[in-house]
Amino acid sequence: MEEMVGPRLYSCCNCRNQIALHDDVISKSFQGRNGRAFLFSHATNIMVGPKEDRHLMTGLHTVADVYCCDCREVLGWKYERAYEETQKYKEGKFILEKSKIVKENW
Ligand SMILES: [Zn+2]
Repeated sequence: MEEMVGPRLYSCCNCRNQIALHDDVISKSFQGRNGRAFLFSHATNIMVGPKEDRHLMTGLHTVADVYCCDCREVLGWKYERAYEETQKYKEGKFILEKSKIVKENW
């Protein structure tokens, strides 16, 4: 009998909605609004809010807040556009605040 081992996940801290896969983590050394945050290449079960320009530590970016699609908790933001050439790799990627997501299947 093989034990079923699912992928390691991150889910919403409020409602345990599945938000992201551990395999999609690009970097764990980002700064969120309330401390540490992770950069992900994909996120699921989220809603993306209106775009706005924000001056971050790494320059001007167009970002949009991302919400849990179930409980509407703000989990982080999506980088829609980066203006600095060195920051372009973040376009289309997601920041999720460490304090807003919990580990599942670890
Ligand atoms: Zn939620």
